[in-house]
Amino acid sequence: MSVSITDAKSAELYARALQRLPGGVNSPVRAMQAIGRDPIFIERADGAEIVDVDGNKYVDYVCSWGPLIHGHAHPEIVEAVVAAAHKGTSFGAPTAAEVEIAEEIARRMPSVEMVRMTSSGTEASMSAIRLARAATGRSKILKFAGAYHGHVDGLLAQAGSGLATAGIPASPGVPEAATHETVIVDWNDGAAVATAFAEHDFAAVIAEPYPANMGLVPPVEGFLELLRNQADEHGALLIFDEVISGFRVAAGGAQEREGVSPDLTVMGKVIGGGLPAAAYGGGRTLMEHIAPAGDVYQAGTLSGNPLAVAAGLATLRLLDDPAYLKLGAITETLASGLRDAAAQHGVALTVVSVPGLVTPFFAETAPRDYAGAQAADHGAYAAFCRALLARGVYPPASQYEAWFPSLAHGPAHLDRTLDAVNAAFAEIS
Ligand SMILES: *Cc1c(COP(=O)(O)O)cnc(C)c1O
Repeated sequence: MSVSITDAKSAELYARALQRLPGGVNSPVRAMQAIGRDPIFIERADGAEIVDVDGNKYVDYVCSWGPLIHGHAHPEIVEAVVAAAHKGTSFGAPTAAEVEIAEEIARRMPSVEMVRMTSSGTEASMSAIRLARAATGRSKILKFAGAYHGHVDGLLAQAGSGLATAGIPASPGVPEAATHETVIVDWNDGAAVATAFAEHDFAAVIAEPYPANMGLVPPVEGFLELLRNQADEHGALLIFDEVISGFRVAAGGAQEREGVSPDLTVMGKVIGGGLPAAAYGGGRTLMEHIAPAGDVYQAGTLSGNPLAVAAGLATLRLLDDPAYLKLGAITETLASGLRDAAAQHGVALTVVSVPGLVTPFFAETAPRDYAGAQAADHGAYAAFCRALLARGVYPPASQYEAWFPSLAHGPAHLDRTLDAVNAAFAEIS
C-alpha cells in the first residue's frame, strides 16, 4: 500500500525557508533532522489527517505535539475561536472567559485553586520556578535528566560529572550562573533524589509526572510519592509539569491517575486547544504571592488571550468521562497494534503507553530513565518514521517525542496506520 509521495512544493518552500528562518523552521523538531529527512510543509488539516503543500495526506500522530486532543479544526473549537475573534482579539483587560477557564481547571485539578495564564509552557514553568523561589526563600531547583520544561535558561541544564552536582548549560548562550542553581538526577532513581535532598536546600523539585520528552518513561511504583515525601520533609515545593499530561491522561492529569498532589502545576498544550495558552497554578496561599495579589512579578501582554481561552474552554468542555474512555481505547488499539506488528516481523520494539500517549521504543525493554531512552535504536526509529511517512502516516520525528493519538482517530485511521506499520516493519526488518 505504498503511496507515491511527491514533495516538489515542500522542497521549494524549504529552500526559501532556509534563507529566512534558522534551519528553515520556527521550532527545531519540525525540521525532521533526527530522522534524516527534510521537513514537510503543511497546508491544512481536518480531524486526524493533515495534508501537505504537495497534496499528500497523512494520519497525524503529532497533532501539534499535544494540544489537539480533539484532532484538527474541530468544528466547535473553530466556532468558539471565530466567535471570540469577532468580539475583539485582545483587550489587555479581564474577561469572563478567563474566570470560566480558571474555574474549569480548578474543577478538574483540585490541587489548583488559583491559576495564572501565560502564552507558552516555557513561560509557565519559568514563572512557577520564580514563585517557588520566592515562597521558600531558596534558589536551588532539582530536575530530572531527560525532562523538558521549556527552554528556560535554568532548566536547560544537563547533569554534571558527579551525582547530584550542579547542572551544566545544555545550550550555548545559557550562562553557567543560570544552571548553577539546578541539580539534576536520574528519573526513577529514588536514592539519588534522597541524596540530592540531603546535600542541597531546594526551593522545588520539578518533574513531568509522566515524562514524555525522552519518549514516554512513566514513574516506577512509589516514585512520585517519594518526591512528595522528600519535598515535604525538606520544606521544598513539588512542581508537576503537566504541560503534556494535563487534561490528556485523565481529566485531572497524571496527578489524578497517580494520586499524588503537587504544590504547583504547570499546564499548556491541551488547555490552549491549538492556540497559544498555558498556565501555572496551585493552592491559594501560594498563588497569592503573585502580583498584584502579592509581590512576585509576572505579566504578559497576551496572557489569557480571548481567542486562546475560547479554544481552551471549548476543548475542556468536550472532555467528558466518555471522551477519556474513548481516548484510552484508541491509545490501546494503537499500542497493541504496534506491539503485534513488531512481534510478527521480529522487530525488537517495546511499546509504552498511558491513555493519550504512546512511545514505540526500539529497545528490548522499557527505558527507566534518560540513559535508557538514549540507548534505544534511534537509527531504527528514524528508518521506521521515513517508511511510515512514505505510506501516509505522520509520526513524531524523534524517538524522544511521544505519539499523540487524538479523539479524531477513528477505526479507519487506526487500520490505515497499522497497515502502514506492518509494511514499514517489513521494509526495515
Ligand atoms: C511542550 C512542553 C513545555 C513547553 O511548552 P511551550 O509551550 O512549548 O513553551 C514544557 N513542559 C513540557 C513537559 C512540555 O512538553
